[in-house]
Amino acid sequence: MSKNIVVAIDGYSSCGKSTLAKALAKKLNFIYIDSGAMYRAVTLFFLRHNIDLKHQESVIDALSKIQIDFQTSETQTLITLNSEDVSKEIRQMPVADKVSTVSAIKDVRIEMVKQQQRMGRSGNIVMDGRDIGTVVFPNADLKLFMTADPQIRAERRYNELISKGEKVNMEDIFENLAKRDYQDTTREESPLIQAVDAVVLDNSHIDETQQLEFAIRYIKPLLSKK
Ligand code: C5P
Repeated sequence: MSKNIVVAIDGYSSCGKSTLAKALAKKLNFIYIDSGAMYRAVTLFFLRHNIDLKHQESVIDALSKIQIDFQTSETQTLITLNSEDVSKEIRQMPVADKVSTVSAIKDVRIEMVKQQQRMGRSGNIVMDGRDIGTVVFPNADLKLFMTADPQIRAERRYNELISKGEKVNMEDIFENLAKRDYQDTTREESPLIQAVDAVVLDNSHIDETQQLEFAIRYIKPLLSKK
């Protein structure tokens, strides 16, 4: 029986991981899972319910009340939190400000990793995040580690949020990305690190088509093997 193909994409905030992951999933007809959106949905729930992050019992109790699902259509992927579409709200600054603190909590990670591994059994997948190639799928068929110049990343995130009608300024975006990168790379639980067997993709000066071609070059041999 052929095994599912897993493509793991990790890297810093706003490096274009989800853009690449979505494009790959579409081209190859794989399932796309945005693990960052899951941590964002948990953060939104914690914020709405004023969960005390230092109180383990409250955190575990809150986690047991959270159901996260993805609904994929031809044109978009929605994420729902207890059946409510929260795709837009999880991208806003209040969640962005807190998500790296919430995602550093061990119990939160244990629960999310469990769900991500379950999703990974449902077919060929592309999953992006910070610990996908190191913790969630250490045996992934292909691991990509994405990086880009911090100023370019901030500009991309700024343009994305402005185009969605958000009121943001460049300084806040730059600071938020720097703060999240710092928290994500220095936390005790599953910090963002490059897996030893990951292929590095720096997309500072290449466009979406070129980065897709780059990834496809590595995936093609996997497809013919299965
Ligand atoms: O990918 P995105 O920037 O939406 O992720 C939001 C945050 O979720 C990250 O800054 C990180 O703190 C956390 N995250 C994580 N592990 C993952 C994916 C995201 O800790 N696998």
